Amino acid sequence: MSKKLDPVTQAIRIQTPRTSQKEHSTPLYLTSSFIFEEAETMRAAFADESDDNIYSRFSNPNVDEFIAKMCALEGAEAGFATSTGMSAIFSSMFALLKQGDHLLSCSSVFGSTYTLVTKYLQRYGIESTLVPAGDNAAWEAAVRPNTKMVYLETPTNPQLELIDLEWVGQFAKKHQLILNVDNCFATPLLQRPIDFGADLVVHSATKWIDGQGRVLGGVIVGRADLINEIYLFCRNTGPSLSPFNAWILSKSLETLDVRMQRHCENALHLAQALQKNPHVSWVKYPFLPNHPQYEIAKRQMSAGGGVFCIELKGGLAAGRRFLDALELLSVTANLGDARSIASHPASTTHSKLSDAERQAVGITPGLIRISAGLEKATDILADIEQALEKSAF
Ligand SMILES: *Cc1c(COP(=O)(O)O)cnc(C)c1O
Repeated sequence: MSKKLDPVTQAIRIQTPRTSQKEHSTPLYLTSSFIFEEAETMRAAFADESDDNIYSRFSNPNVDEFIAKMCALEGAEAGFATSTGMSAIFSSMFALLKQGDHLLSCSSVFGSTYTLVTKYLQRYGIESTLVPAGDNAAWEAAVRPNTKMVYLETPTNPQLELIDLEWVGQFAKKHQLILNVDNCFATPLLQRPIDFGADLVVHSATKWIDGQGRVLGGVIVGRADLINEIYLFCRNTGPSLSPFNAWILSKSLETLDVRMQRHCENALHLAQALQKNPHVSWVKYPFLPNHPQYEIAKRQMSAGGGVFCIELKGGLAAGRRFLDALELLSVTANLGDARSIASHPASTTHSKLSDAERQAVGITPGLIRISAGLEKATDILADIEQALEKSAF
């Protein structure tokens, strides 16, 4: 086709070449290795002189289809898909950083990313500094001669803090740092970090990309030279995505655009309605005007995403009672599912922190994180409202 297709169309139409069966949908290539009919073609494949598949730890048609769609959506040159979001994040750091390098990261990042940065990087002699999301002066002050990478999430999980991507893109360019952005919460349908100068984008495909809570997966896309380093690291260390999970995720991308529209509509509607609820002290959502970084959200995101937070007036005890009172919403650790999900960070993911530590990272006692599903908004709201009634003191 002569005209370049929109990324949304590409996410539906990019497809592995058909087999002799002329199937309409991509079949599942459950094979660990690939055959060579001649010694010469096998030699050429190993010498990187051809793109022939060799072994599914290196590449596989289902995995390649998923990567090609993600590159189209994010506007990236190249990519590599991994078994989980964490193996994508881990690989993007360990493939590119070495002993003596320094990493700058925002202080509110996903829990396992926090542990990776603060505990494991330093074991290998990689230094790191955690910087508060919105404090531009602190980012400038934290740069050292050996700083090599900036790593961040926006919006952050679960505090929903934002980083100004335009500002951080210029900051990274000025200091010649690799800008690596976890775009899990926004997805490329709402925000494309590469348009703001990001060199790499990582994803937990487990969340909105799968969108139905079935499989784990991750992906790294970005500059071809960096992705090649990451590819060589992964090819030899083995965090590759399975063909089955890639098949699911590629299929999921066909509906990402329409799903995200409904998730965002539902989240905004629920957030607005709950602002008026007498048992809720505040609601936080990037597209509510009371969000401290509302202006930034409007500039860099096309919608507010599927996650919002509410603070219950009754604090910690009300938070626990709220979970017990829910009838429709699922109480589970995941997010980005067709089914709406509620969680209470203070009594679960952040329960090991002291009160002061929780306060410092913005986890208030009555904080409930809600991932808006695809159910009818009226049903989700009715369940949240009846649970708020029951959990109030
Ligand atoms: C869930 C999540 C991850 C980790 O992804 P897994 O697929 O669970 O390994 C990373 N970043 C963010 C923002 C997440 O929400």
